[in-house]
Order: sequence, then C-alpha cells, then structure tokens
Amino acid sequence: QPRVFSGIQPSGGLTLGNYLGAIRRFVDTQNANRDSGIETIYCMVDQHAITVWQDPAALTRNTRELAAGYIAAGLDPAKSILFNQSQVAEHAQLAWIFNCVARMGWMQRMTQWKDKAGKNSQNASLGLFAYPALMAADILIYHATHVPVGEDQKQHVELTRDIAAKFNHDFGVDFFPLTEPVIEGAATRVMSLRDGSKKMSKSDPSDASRINMTDDADTIAQKFRKAKTDPDALPSEAAGLEGRPEARNLVNIYAALNDQSVDEVLRDVGGRQFSEFKPMLSDLAVAKLSPISGEMARLMQAPDEIDAILRSGADRARVMAAPILKRTYEIVGMVS
Ligand code: ATP
Ligand code: MG
Repeated sequence: QPRVFSGIQPSGGLTLGNYLGAIRRFVDTQNANRDSGIETIYCMVDQHAITVWQDPAALTRNTRELAAGYIAAGLDPAKSILFNQSQVAEHAQLAWIFNCVARMGWMQRMTQWKDKAGKNSQNASLGLFAYPALMAADILIYHATHVPVGEDQKQHVELTRDIAAKFNHDFGVDFFPLTEPVIEGAATRVMSLRDGSKKMSKSDPSDASRINMTDDADTIAQKFRKAKTDPDALPSEAAGLEGRPEARNLVNIYAALNDQSVDEVLRDVGGRQFSEFKPMLSDLAVAKLSPISGEMARLMQAPDEIDAILRSGADRARVMAAPILKRTYEIVGMVS
C-alpha cells in the first residue's frame, strides 16, 4: 500500500521555492489520492530546524505560519495528517536506531551538510551532521513509500533507502520499504533571485534572494525588478536558455505558476526584454500567491485553532508510528 510523507522546516518563512517545489505538490498528491485510501502525511519538521540556531519565539511563530501555509495552499486536515514533528516522539526514537545503522562516511558525503556546515564544520551541531538519519526516521516511521520533495532533497531520500536496506540486511528482515523520491514539475529547483547558481532558501541571509509567501504585491514586484538577469532578450524556445541560469529560473517560475511548459511560455514571450517580462511575472506571482497569503494571515489570527489541528494530526500520526517503533525495537532485540 503506497503511503506519502513529506515535511518542511520552520526555519524561516515559506518561500516561492517551498511552494512550487513542495507544498503545491503535497496538495496535488493529497487531492489525487483522495478516494484511494492512501494516507498523505505532512509535517512541520521543527527538530530539523533546530540543527541550526533558532530563536525560540521565532520557531513557535514559524511553525504556526508553516501550518497556516499548508492549510491556505489547500492541505485539508480532514484528508491529510498535519502535525509538528516534535509532537510525535517516535521520530526521534527511531532516529537513534538509524544513527547506529548509518555510517559517518555516508553523512560526510551529503551536499546539504557540506553547504550548511561551511568551512568551520567542527563548529556545526552534531544534529546537523545526523540530519539525514532523522529524515530517514521521519519517513520510515510510517513505512512511507513516496516522498514529494524538491531536487535538493533527492540525496537525502536516497540515503533513506540506504539506511532501510542496511537495517533490513543487518537484521535479516524485510521490514522497511525502499522509499522513492518524487521530484516533478517545472520548478523542482527554484534558484536565488540574486545568484543563479544558488537555490532559493528560506534561511538565506538575503531577503532579496527570495519571494516569501507573505510578501505583499509591491515587495514581490520590487524583488523581481531587481532580480539578476543578463542583458539579452528572451529566446523563443527552451534550448535558448542554455548557459543563462537567471533567465532560465525566471522562465521556469513563470511556467510553474501558470501551469505551462517552458516552451509554451517562450512561444508567448520569446523576443521580449526582461523589462517587459519581469512585470508580467510579478503580476502572475501576485495573482497566484495573494489568495494564499491572505488566507495565511487570516489563519494566523487564531493560533489556538492551528495548534488544535496539529494536536489532532499528531494523535493520528502516533497511532501509525507506535507499532512500527515497537516492531523495530523487537527486531533490534530491545527488551520492552
Ligand atoms: P532551509 O534554508 O532552512 O534549508 P529551505 O527553503 O531549503 O529552508 P526546507 O525546509 O529545507 O526549505 O525544504 C522543504 C521542501 O522544500 C523540500 O522538499 C525542499 O526540497 C523544497 N525546496 C526548498 N527549496 C526549494 C527550491 N529552491 N526549489 C524547489 N524546492 C525547494
Ligand atoms: Mg533546505
């Protein structure tokens, strides 16, 4: 039986990258599986967020805002299980087992570790290093088979498969499934607006590098106006974007927001200058995002309701997680 799990860190405000690469696809997956009995489980992963310093009040606010973003974008607590990671202790409990299955060398190869730890990796938290083992636990504590993510998380889902396979092999069982990453759509890797070689991220120190889901229309227009580009006009087919990462990024964003292919977009806008295309892109982004940010603001007026939704989601998640943890402990030989 397929089962879908994914999560987002409350490490800042939601970005357009999170929306196009993750949340919008969570919603599509939820709706496509509506009547099939396939569970869709979506988490706010606060324990991942604290692998780098988070101000406590900001963590609380960002967790609620992320939940509001999920719901505003179309995740329905009656159809999907929505909760906060730390509410379901089984994630961290299984992560410990996986810390003992995964190898140091596997973790050292992770590009997210290398990027986030930076040059002074001795000073990074132990949690940041072990992040992929916790992510494997998030997924496998539900025996999830499919994980919709952006391109940047492909390596971690592959590591999840390695951990599952090593666990199964070491203990001679066929217990954990080999999970598939599901990376689809026109915007699996939205790039920074300031640097076409860097992913758009909610934790990037430059606010100008990203569109936040809560940005107002003027801010969105200003950020796209200032977005880095080259001086040439837009090409009339996708091949013409070769070697033009910033141009490609803006066209990809347009295509994803408008549910078109890149070639379809370029058929309409090929030959235009960025001075013409950028306002079109801003208008489209505002039209698509403002209903969501409006609903997020409304939901944020009632944090108690958000918390109640997460608590009841956590209760449902625990019912699935507890027997899988229990069985894992038995396999490992732990006396209960
Ligand atoms: P942080 O900078 O704190 O790592 P983030 O913006 O990378 O934040 P995550 O919580 O790490 O967000 O990732 C949540 C989901 O959003 C993942 O599925 C990830 O692949 C996806 N995602 C993140 N950034 C992008 C992006 N620029 N384009 C497409 N998908 C993205
Ligand atoms: Mg990230």
